Amino acid sequence: MNADLRELYQEIILDHNRRPRNRGTVSLANREAEGHNPLCGDQVKVTVFTENGSVAEIAFEGQGCAISTASASLMTEAVKGKTVEEAEKIFREFQEMVTQTGEASDHSELGDLEVFQGVREYPVRIKCATLPWHTLHAALVGEEKVTTE
Ligand code: ZN
Repeated sequence: MNADLRELYQEIILDHNRRPRNRGTVSLANREAEGHNPLCGDQVKVTVFTENGSVAEIAFEGQGCAISTASASLMTEAVKGKTVEEAEKIFREFQEMVTQTGEASDHSELGDLEVFQGVREYPVRIKCATLPWHTLHAALVGEEKVTTE
């Protein structure tokens, strides 16, 4: 990754950490889950209102490091308005990107979520970046608690 790109990615992460999007709770939530990453101390709660198989509303709250907060913020933007199936697909692609377990090296369809590809160089941070996604997944499949351990 070149230095300019790295800097741009850093800026997006810092911006979402400073001004998280969709922070709070969805008042009419019909799905919710809490996630905990004991390694870093990140806590996140994701509330979702699904309608006709789509993520109509989504919000998150909790306490976490810059990576987990920015990841949660970008996640809510990425899946809002998508079908549950699409949201799960983005979750899998995101996970593949940060853990580098997937075959594909082109993640351009992830859009801004690509800013987290640098995380793979910091194994401890992978759990921070994926915690909100595991929590969303748990909410969508009807589990109430998830931990990265
Ligand atoms: Zn963290």
